Amino acid sequence: MGSYRSERMGLLPPYLFVEIDRRKSEAIEAGRDIIDLGVGDPDQPTPSFIIEAMASAIRDPANHTYALGIGKRGFREAVCGFFQRRYGVEIDTNREILALLGSKEGIGHLPTAVVNPGDVVLVPSPGYPVYTSGTIFAGGTTHVMPLCEDHGWLPVFEDIPADVCRKARLMFLNYPNNPTAACADLEFFERAVSFARKHDILIAQDAAYGELYYEKPPPSILQVEGARDVAIELHSFSKTFNMTGWRVGFAVGNADAIAALAAVKSNLDSGVFGAVQSAAIEAITHTDHVAVRAMIDLYRQRRDVIVDGLRAAGWSVPSPAATFYVWARCPSGNDSTATAARILDEVGVVVIPGVGFGETGEGYVRLALTVDIERSREVVRRIASISFKPVEAS
Ligand SMILES: *Cc1c(COP(=O)(O)O)cnc(C)c1O
Repeated sequence: MGSYRSERMGLLPPYLFVEIDRRKSEAIEAGRDIIDLGVGDPDQPTPSFIIEAMASAIRDPANHTYALGIGKRGFREAVCGFFQRRYGVEIDTNREILALLGSKEGIGHLPTAVVNPGDVVLVPSPGYPVYTSGTIFAGGTTHVMPLCEDHGWLPVFEDIPADVCRKARLMFLNYPNNPTAACADLEFFERAVSFARKHDILIAQDAAYGELYYEKPPPSILQVEGARDVAIELHSFSKTFNMTGWRVGFAVGNADAIAALAAVKSNLDSGVFGAVQSAAIEAITHTDHVAVRAMIDLYRQRRDVIVDGLRAAGWSVPSPAATFYVWARCPSGNDSTATAARILDEVGVVVIPGVGFGETGEGYVRLALTVDIERSREVVRRIASISFKPVEAS
């Protein structure tokens, strides 16, 4: 028998966590007490005010049919209200908003909507892998924008070669950033918008962590004058409201790109379950709910335990201003795969090697703030017990 896998599937980058996953399963099988800071999935339940909204919406037969189209009017109006309140930005509820089955779905389908075969898509590295796989599925080509610490983990547009700029059709940005936890300010978004305008590129800014911040609220790219001519922004309920399993998000911005994405989706899915949209309305109108604030305080406490603890153990690690990730430079010049492997094998803690997010992530590991404060203290005790020897030059 031949293989049923398309050539396109062969172009997907290899899944780099295979080795870590294997070692993790082995350790669990052997009965070891493993603490998993690998996956970026909130450990707390969805707040009950959202569950209550779902519980009553599910009894309404109007929610039992296909939820075709761009999202319920009430959903789009709630998103519009959020944009006014939070960013001072006016959104056209009929043309500039689209409900998504989670932002990942929108990210994955966007290249199919806007990219022609051979077009270039600019993707950040390290970065969320779906920017690349969505591009490959659409027959596009990626050009990596390396992010590095010296530039605050922001891409340097001047470094993108002129011929790449000519062929580029789409650029993914992601602030607050996964995995580096970096934030972008409005000045950066202004530069991104003028770069996109100059080269006729659509920007897709992934704001999955837009509401998960500890210091000043991160801006929306749509706050930039004229941004909607060249940009859309993708938002998610998953991380803000502990709703990863619910599959709901939205895209906002350029009406032409929104319509193209909506057309792709109308051929593949039949909308976000109406009851989930009702629950999402409740969530997005209460971003300041005590339950939401309490969760952020929880992440903040864990962040401080992990960051202070790693620093005391001699690691160089900045305290994240947003997201629930700590992005730490590997001690003593060790590479990320070796560092993650030692932390798992010797003390039973799962962290993600930075190289798994792209080559430029080498030299760092990512820790998710998704275990309670006691376990976070235990993480720090365990990691501090490892002695990382400087790598010898050979
Ligand atoms: C978690 C995550 C998403 C996906 O969120 P969903 O709305 O659950 O699909 C998108 N982008 C980044 C960078 C993420 O970390």
